[in-house]
Amino acid sequence: MSSELITAAPLCRNLPSPPGIALRIIALAQDPDADLGRAAELIALDPALSARVLRLSNSALFASRRRSENLQQAINKLGLHPTLQLALGFSLLTDLRGGNPPHAEHEQIWRRSLIAAMACRALGEALGVNKPDELLLAGLIQDIGALLLMQHHSARYLPITHQAGGDNQRLLTLERSELGADHAAIGAELARQWDLPAYLVDAIANSETAPQGAADPIQQCVHASGLLADIWLDNTPEQAHQYAQLTLADSLGLDSDALAAVIARTSELLPEAASAFDTTLCTPEYIHDLLEQAREVSQLRELLAAQEAEVLRERSDTLERHAIELSSMANRDALTGAINRGHFEQALGAAFDLANLQQRPLAVAFIDLDDFKKINDRHGHLVGDDVLKAVARHLKDSVRSVDTVARFGGEEFVIIFPDTPLAGARAIIERVLSGLSTQPATHIAGQALHVTFSAGIACHLPDQPFASAHALLDAADRALYQCKDQGRNRVGIHQWPGAIATAG
Ligand code: GH3
Ligand code: MG
Ligand code: MG
Repeated sequence: MSSELITAAPLCRNLPSPPGIALRIIALAQDPDADLGRAAELIALDPALSARVLRLSNSALFASRRRSENLQQAINKLGLHPTLQLALGFSLLTDLRGGNPPHAEHEQIWRRSLIAAMACRALGEALGVNKPDELLLAGLIQDIGALLLMQHHSARYLPITHQAGGDNQRLLTLERSELGADHAAIGAELARQWDLPAYLVDAIANSETAPQGAADPIQQCVHASGLLADIWLDNTPEQAHQYAQLTLADSLGLDSDALAAVIARTSELLPEAASAFDTTLCTPEYIHDLLEQAREVSQLRELLAAQEAEVLRERSDTLERHAIELSSMANRDALTGAINRGHFEQALGAAFDLANLQQRPLAVAFIDLDDFKKINDRHGHLVGDDVLKAVARHLKDSVRSVDTVARFGGEEFVIIFPDTPLAGARAIIERVLSGLSTQPATHIAGQALHVTFSAGIACHLPDQPFASAHALLDAADRALYQCKDQGRNRVGIHQWPGAIATAG
């Protein structure tokens, strides 16, 4: 996004000014003659700030046996530069902390910032980026744009965050369309207007974009720290963990053991961060569970590594065969370009066999458009056809390339999700469904036409297996019909030993 576009965004024209003390800290940090005495005088002007600096200097974040009794000693121990970075972080964020009590969404951004700050620092340690204070500060204020929006424009911003439903990518897209700029761009503009050091402006600007090539290490850590924070905050931590693992292995070359160590280190820092910022982040039990999970994932990987070589070879042969088969037009439905019924049966059978061979989960979603006949009756079959094409495209755009989107018949689609647990498939289908409420399937005389669907999902698991691919599909179909009975526009899951839960 160009910077003119951002500054032109109405929200960026009247950004608040920085807290007075922050301005003076920035100036002092840039002054070559700055000394401990002046820093202590400045920080002492704000009692809350002084208390925090003192508390932090005695915390495990800065392990040392010597206790600081006063501000001078604390600054002495932390060092001038780190103290100023910390004080800057505290003073910048205090104003944007949220009302009393804050909205749940506000609290969520705030907690994410704190966890990300600790993750950013732990990542820097793991990657040998020897700038702990810069990493901490940049990690901490990366979402300053979102905090600002929540604090000063909550009437406009809250509905956007609700609509995004916790999906960060969706939030960014909505911010751009509704506000003219996303929170990273707005945060960077704020940081620029506040005259923060360039590394902070850049880190905020790039906090939501995966760095390309040989990016600046601070920017890389900041971007990665957001993904890591999601492990603590996501409703499905295991998935967030796996996602972070895949992404960070790719972008930072961090293997699963190194990642487990970063997660453990971050967990270790969290209680200190929470107490320094007077907040609760996670219960000790939750942190313990996460650490266990990190350990398990890394042990599991070791175990699997030996089996994997063989399985991977077979898998890649199968996938290659699939890819060749799928690319053939003969396997596609002429109207929507989705896989046709005939080939779908074959693809489902192969996915089922592969899941058994690898002892991995396989999820299937059965989707049926709601009241589609009425669309045909009201607007004609050509409009109906357009809707089918748009839904198929939306489905294909929302899944991974290894997933198969098939047209089962009429207005019914099936998606095969290899190596995917029930919760993962459910999250994707719910996202697609809520996406249809904002994204019209087509327009008629300039009027948006929205559609909904009902979907049933079933999952074949090593410890909860279905007897056959057909039985798996049948379970998804039954979950779908339960949704129709309960009023449509919802996603239902097949639950063992047969109960079905739905969510609208
Ligand atoms: P429900 O919510 O219960 O699923 O209701 P529905 O109207 O979607 O379901 P129903 O099975 O009654 O109707 C499906 C309609 O889909 C009837 C059929 O004419 C239409 N249809 C099937 N294939 C196509 C197609 O290729 N193009 C168009 N335009 N319509 C199709
Ligand atoms: Mg139908
Ligand atoms: Mg239907």
